[in-house]
Amino acid sequence: MQKNAVDILTSYVDALHPIIYINHFDFKVIDDVISKVSEKAKKVEFNNALGFVDFQNKHPMLEASLESFLKQTMDYGFDRETFVILKDVHNELKNPKVIALLKKIAEDNVYREGYRETVFIVSEVLVIPEELENLITIFDVPLPDLNEIKGIVADYAKDLDIKVESDVVDEIALSFKGLNEFQIQQILNLAYRDGGDIKASDKQLIITEKQQLVKKAGMLEIVNFHEKVDDIGGLNNLKQWLRRKAEIFKDLDRAIKFGVDVPKGILIVGMPGCGKSLTAKATANLFELPLVRLDVGRLLGKYVGESENNMRKALKLAEAISPCVLWIDELEKAFAGVGSSIGGNEVTTRLFGQFLTWMQEKESSVFIVATANNIAKMPPEFMRRGRFDELFFVDLPDPDERRSILRIHLEKRGKWNSEIDTIALTKKTDGYSGVDLEAVVKNAIEEAFINDVPVITTNDLLNSVKKTKSISVTLKDKIDELRKDIQKYDFMEANCAGKNGG
Ligand code: ATP
Repeated sequence: MQKNAVDILTSYVDALHPIIYINHFDFKVIDDVISKVSEKAKKVEFNNALGFVDFQNKHPMLEASLESFLKQTMDYGFDRETFVILKDVHNELKNPKVIALLKKIAEDNVYREGYRETVFIVSEVLVIPEELENLITIFDVPLPDLNEIKGIVADYAKDLDIKVESDVVDEIALSFKGLNEFQIQQILNLAYRDGGDIKASDKQLIITEKQQLVKKAGMLEIVNFHEKVDDIGGLNNLKQWLRRKAEIFKDLDRAIKFGVDVPKGILIVGMPGCGKSLTAKATANLFELPLVRLDVGRLLGKYVGESENNMRKALKLAEAISPCVLWIDELEKAFAGVGSSIGGNEVTTRLFGQFLTWMQEKESSVFIVATANNIAKMPPEFMRRGRFDELFFVDLPDPDERRSILRIHLEKRGKWNSEIDTIALTKKTDGYSGVDLEAVVKNAIEEAFINDVPVITTNDLLNSVKKTKSISVTLKDKIDELRKDIQKYDFMEANCAGKNGG
């Protein structure tokens, strides 16, 4: 990891990026990286709590304000290359004098001959003053790749003189992906303290720790689920596709070694109440992975760059807990208005670009399930080939699918019996969605309970159908519109006509 980080930072310094904002909590790791960028450069450090600090031994040297520190060190860049390292100064970045001094140093670094002074701001909190926006480069410390993680595990085992089988290293290394060196070492410590060695079953420990991480960060929501693929009536094409991909996720390490591409994700567009959310949960169950939800609205912040920083953190977090399923509900609302000249929102457009780039470049095993009711307002980029592995359109259930959905919901409530004439029921439920059919079953059972009738009959269900309005009546125009919009793109039918679902 360090080497990669050093290379990137060195390239920034060489290209005269004047202020580099390192958004990180572990100052020791960052000091190590900065030292390696240039051994020759003079390093002066300011710590918000201590003032002037000796960069090598961290001893406080002189109490001072950031303003006076910058005034005293701003000419160092004329004598020799200087790194100014500012720790935890994010609150000072609202002070106009500090901003002006930083701007002066930055501009001298870019424009004045013979002057080399690079400012590093190191803090866990990102504050970018508007005046410095163009002069600041944000640097995210790259996370260790698979080989580097294997190295960390191997070094750990060597230090403690324990033997870890190489297939165990391979398996747990994959689960460690997305965590930084510090976090990996903490989990290894836990595993070692727990059992005196490192074994494949410690993967569970990694998942639990990663879930803690998500809860603490608050950028994503962990979704608890119990829905299974067999709880979905119909949608046979979609279910078949998912079952195939599940084979890969269940044996990911071997699949990758074999040369299989890790599936990226799917977009499911369709009628409300037809099982899109159900599918997102059932996917995580089928793949045996944690499910996390990304709510783009929750990432929006009021300061410049805050939303983008939140998005970056959320995506990093998703990578940190990968392999996982990342669910983005109501994708059309998350990125509504992107790119349109009127009413287009600049921040949302930037977030969209950031998300798309991440999707394109991601190497982690985050499987995206994006769901949407409408594509009219959605950026067309999402529908282009190569973004998602597949685009699925979920239509209203056909007769066979309706039979299967009714049966699933009756069985779930212990009220299925073979006397129920599902064919008669399907004839009366044309245009009903999954959630409508569930309502039919729920209401019939409630009625039977109130009337003290132990067995549900076809007639009870037919009566309930009469009282339940279908989505096709309430949302007719929207449904017609969606069917028309879908034709413009290459969507695959999630439903599979003529086959029995369930
Ligand atoms: P929305 O777009 O409104 O969020 P959705 O397509 O995500 O709708 P779900 O939340 O998955 O709809 O469905 C709501 C409920 O309806 C489910 O929890 C389930 O009980 C029932 N349901 C919908 N579709 C199906 C289906 N194909 N099979 C079984 N039950 C279904």
